[in-house]
Amino acid sequence: MSRQDKAVDLRSLTLEQTVTLVAEHGQPAYRGDQLWRWVHRNGVRSLDEASNLPGALRASLDEAGVICTALEVADVQRSVDGTRKMRLETRDGRSIETVLIPDGDKMTQCISSQVGCALDCQFCATAKLGLTRNLTAGEIVDQVYLAKALLAEEAPGQRITNLVYMGMGEPLHNFDHVMQSLVLLTHDVGANLSHRRITVSTVGLVPGIRKLGKQEVRPNLAVSLNASNDEVRDVVMPINKKYPIEVLLQTLREFPLEKRRRITFEYVLLAGVNDTLDDADRVAKLLRGFPCKLNVIPFNPHPLAPYKRPSRETIDAFQQRVRELGIATYLRTPRGDDIAAACGQLANREQQQELVQLR
Ligand code: SF4
Repeated sequence: MSRQDKAVDLRSLTLEQTVTLVAEHGQPAYRGDQLWRWVHRNGVRSLDEASNLPGALRASLDEAGVICTALEVADVQRSVDGTRKMRLETRDGRSIETVLIPDGDKMTQCISSQVGCALDCQFCATAKLGLTRNLTAGEIVDQVYLAKALLAEEAPGQRITNLVYMGMGEPLHNFDHVMQSLVLLTHDVGANLSHRRITVSTVGLVPGIRKLGKQEVRPNLAVSLNASNDEVRDVVMPINKKYPIEVLLQTLREFPLEKRRRITFEYVLLAGVNDTLDDADRVAKLLRGFPCKLNVIPFNPHPLAPYKRPSRETIDAFQQRVRELGIATYLRTPRGDDIAAACGQLANREQQQELVQLR
C-alpha cells in the first residue's frame, strides 16, 4: 500500500475530526478550527497555502502523510444553453464529471459519487464504464468547491443554489462517503447548503433507502422509475430483478418524509419501450397516494445506448395523461445535450469513443 493510500485526507474530515487530528499533533483546538476554514471556506489546494498555521504543524501533518485532496480541472465545456460541464481528475488519474445547470435565478450542480458505476442501466453512458471505485467525501465536496471557483471567475454573483447527486455513480452504493459529504456541504463554514436543497438520486437500492431513512438529517430523495411494470424495468434497469417495483414502492411508503416534502420519481422516456398511454395509466396507478412528483425526462440519445427519444406528441401525451390522473408531473427539458452533459450522458467523450470502437 502506498503512502497516499493510507493518507488522511483533510477535505474528507468534519470540523470535529480536524480538531482531533490537530490535537494529535500537539496543537490546540483553535488551530483545528483554522485549518478547517482554510480547507472548506477558502478551498486551499495544499497545506502550504494555509499561511497562518505554524510551519511546524504543517510540516508535522505533511510528515504524517496528511493530504488535502484536490481534484484537477482537466476540461470545461460550455453549452449554448449556459450549462457547463467540468471534467475533473483525481489524484490517482481517474476522470469524473460534474455539471452546472443555470435555470432562472437557480443554479443546480449535478455531482458524481463514484468513478463509473456498477449498475447497468441500459440507457446510461456511465454504466458502460463499469465501476472503478467510490469517490471519497473529499472528492465529492471538491467538485462543489471547484464549481464555485469557476462561477466566481466566469459568472460573478451567481452561486450554487441546489445540489443533486445524479452524476456518475449510484450514491447509495457509496453510502458512508456520500453521508459524510452531506455533513461537510451543509456546514455553515463550508458550502452552507441547506439539506432541503440537496437531492440524492437512486435507482432504488432498498437497503440504502432504509438506511437513509434512519439518518438524522436527510436530503431529498429522487428515485429512477423508468418503467411501468417489472417486465420492462427488468430490462432497462437490471437492479429491478433484485428489488422489484412493489418492494421498492413499499420501502418508499415507509420512508420518513419531512412535512411538505415529496419523493421525486424520475422517468426516462424511451421511444417504443415505456412511452405508451397504457404505461402512463400504470405509472399513475403505481404512484397514486404517494406524496410525490414525477419528472418525465425524454431520453438523451448517445452512441452507447440502443434507444431513441420519443416524438414531441408522444412525450406531451404521456405527460398529460399522468397529470390528468392526479400525479404532479413535470417535463425535464434536456440541458447541455450538445456537450453530452444531459442526464444519462456522463462519460467523457474520449471514453465514449473508446467504448463505441470496442462494440
Ligand atoms: S443511471 Fe445512475 S445508477 Fe444507473 S448506471 Fe447510470 S450512473 Fe449508474
